[in-house]
Amino acid sequence: MILDAARKALATGPLCDPCLGRPFADRSFGLTNDQRGRALRTTVTLAEDEPFEPGEESDCWVCEGQCSRYDLWAERAAEALAEVDFSTYQVGTRAPPLIEENDALLRAEAGLPEDAGELFKSECNREVGKRLGARTGTEVDFERPDVLCMLDIQRETVEVQVNPAFLYGRYRKLERDIPQTEWPCSACGSTGKELAPDGGERNCRGCGGSGYRYDDSVEGLTAPIVREAMDGSEGVFHGAGREDVDAKMLGTGRPFVLEVKHPRVRDIDPEAIESAIEESTDLIEVEGLRRATHTMVERVKELEASKTYVLTVRFAEPVSQSNLEEVCEALLGETISQRTPNRVDHRRADIVRTREVYAIEGTLEADPAADAESNASEGTTGSLREGRRATIEVHGAGGLYVKELAHGDEGRTEPSLAGLLSVDIEIEALDVLAVEGEDEPFERSEFFLD
Ligand SMILES: [Zn+2]
Ligand SMILES: [Zn+2]
Repeated sequence: MILDAARKALATGPLCDPCLGRPFADRSFGLTNDQRGRALRTTVTLAEDEPFEPGEESDCWVCEGQCSRYDLWAERAAEALAEVDFSTYQVGTRAPPLIEENDALLRAEAGLPEDAGELFKSECNREVGKRLGARTGTEVDFERPDVLCMLDIQRETVEVQVNPAFLYGRYRKLERDIPQTEWPCSACGSTGKELAPDGGERNCRGCGGSGYRYDDSVEGLTAPIVREAMDGSEGVFHGAGREDVDAKMLGTGRPFVLEVKHPRVRDIDPEAIESAIEESTDLIEVEGLRRATHTMVERVKELEASKTYVLTVRFAEPVSQSNLEEVCEALLGETISQRTPNRVDHRRADIVRTREVYAIEGTLEADPAADAESNASEGTTGSLREGRRATIEVHGAGGLYVKELAHGDEGRTEPSLAGLLSVDIEIEALDVLAVEGEDEPFERSEFFLD
């Protein structure tokens, strides 16, 4: 049966061994199509008791000699990658339509199903890939290779696609009024220019001509340094959750990933980058930098994260420390029901959502703004018994509107600190102390390269 098909195939004209073996690629393991073809040719010759004639190479009517050029293609691919730092690769092939047609014709002539064995392009991907790996000491990766080599057989070209590299870390933002990502000025469309009354051009008054609403951003302070270290074309910042511009990010910091497009260097020293960032700015700090896989981007962007905040609040009326503690106790473990906050764009649908408060603690603070008539009074231990100012530390589920939890948002958030205390609350400052994965940590080994 298989010999019958091989005999018919051989009768179609001059064939190379790989082209003869390819329709039988789904038979047996551990053989190349070249070896399959040679074995079939030998067996048919023995069965027919005819003189042995070796396979054609350049005169093969199916591939017209392409199957004997895999070494050449591997050499070309290696040359095209000479300036690129990579440890994993994949090879793709654009096969000439004629070879695909001839492959189908050969199967029809041999009485085989149209999809018997494999296609020329699959063989070419594998054979060139094996040779490229051996030549460069790198490994094939079918999921997410560092580089992809596209062979265009007809045009005799190799196109190289360099996939991005990723660096994971946590940042602390030590000052307020720094956005997480660069914030283009909307007044001038980030051109930095506007039309003057005399019809000429002048610096945009919205941004002073910089094109950005804020001079610095966490992205702007980190991405260029990493991009330069990896010699890439662009650096893109991905933060775990958004952050208010006026909030500091303290404590253990917020996870982020920097994506560098078209990197020429992947094997960077994360500690050297940490030092470079540290030397360049006092506004932020980064730590725990590690080379990561592309899956880390999805992870930091989509993993529901719980957050710990510290708020400084001011009460409209004096509040006692014991009352504050009672109310915090009441909110502990409570599920908070929150309508879309008033501060959010009202064109957005008004929905109610619920989030849990995992932990909450309130402490009265000395009030530097208070004068002698303030109701603040000190207890025997030196801590305040009553006052108008407090810090509230809250650990809440991802998505909890923490400002609204404090001031109640005119009854839109229930229960709230202000509601339970029956006193109006104004937020003076809000900082983030920690961002953690809700059910599991961000840092899991399978998301890192080393
Ligand atoms: Zn051939
Ligand atoms: Zn502007």
